Amino acid sequence: MHPQPYIGRFAPTPSGHLHFGSLLAALASYLDARSHAGSWLLRVEDLDQPRCVPGATDHILRTLEAYGMVWDGEVIRQNQRVALYQQVIDNWLDSGLAYYCDCSRQHIAKHGGVYPGTCRNRHLPFAHTHAVRVQAPQHEICFTDRLQGYFGQRLAAEVGDFVVKRRDGVIAYQLAVVIDDIAQGVTDIVRGADLIDSTPRQLWLYQLLKSEPPRYLHIPLVMRQQGEKLSKRLASPPIDTSMAPATLFKAIAALAQEPPADLRNAPVGEQLAWASNNWSPERLPAALQLLESTLPQA
Ligand code: GLU
Repeated sequence: MHPQPYIGRFAPTPSGHLHFGSLLAALASYLDARSHAGSWLLRVEDLDQPRCVPGATDHILRTLEAYGMVWDGEVIRQNQRVALYQQVIDNWLDSGLAYYCDCSRQHIAKHGGVYPGTCRNRHLPFAHTHAVRVQAPQHEICFTDRLQGYFGQRLAAEVGDFVVKRRDGVIAYQLAVVIDDIAQGVTDIVRGADLIDSTPRQLWLYQLLKSEPPRYLHIPLVMRQQGEKLSKRLASPPIDTSMAPATLFKAIAALAQEPPADLRNAPVGEQLAWASNNWSPERLPAALQLLESTLPQA
């Protein structure tokens, strides 16, 4: 089926504890990997240190273990890989693909959030407070998501040259995620649909890095109410590890996998085995968002 072995991953940001929304993303990527007899890697996206909550990484790892989602190999931490990302940025600065920028948020907001290229030809020198932007292409970048179907963006018109290093010196998510997925040989990305908007930017970086992009499956994002994502910011409760079987059953049901009722009290290993053998992501609605109240109830 797949010419190359399947390699999937879960890449949480430790800006809070694992909540139900992130459990769904972890579970979907795990099930997709295991149903393809693939490996499932774990990468901690801890570049934005000010946003990282002490103890969150440990909580995420312990929760995954309690839910039986055991990853393959070593856990990668982005914070230890900064020199590698910087190397790519330096190459792009040398070749003119990227440039320094000192524009303020207000300046960009005045242009409707699309960066107008103000600093592209200014040739600003290095400064600790300068961001680095990469040039965006004029043509449309598109892909076919396994669930959402066709998705395309004209980066130059809709986003503009985008940040690969922020003004506070933090390497941008868009760059680190691509460098790491390439380095880890990731063939399949399964993640929340809040990131589908980022995918064309990431596909552009794959082109610049002369690498084959992965397949994508963006699962609908669960909203508590219209416009209210289940997120760490909105203080969704951390996932409880003492009730792992009941919560896992609920998560499998929320992914529209229709688990049989007698699986409800089974140990997590048994539930995961059933769910990987029966994994049918096409049962999920092809929607970017779903209201929590409309999820199949366990
Ligand atoms: N670290 C990102 C997050 O927690 C996810 C990255 C990805 O799956 O590409 O939202």
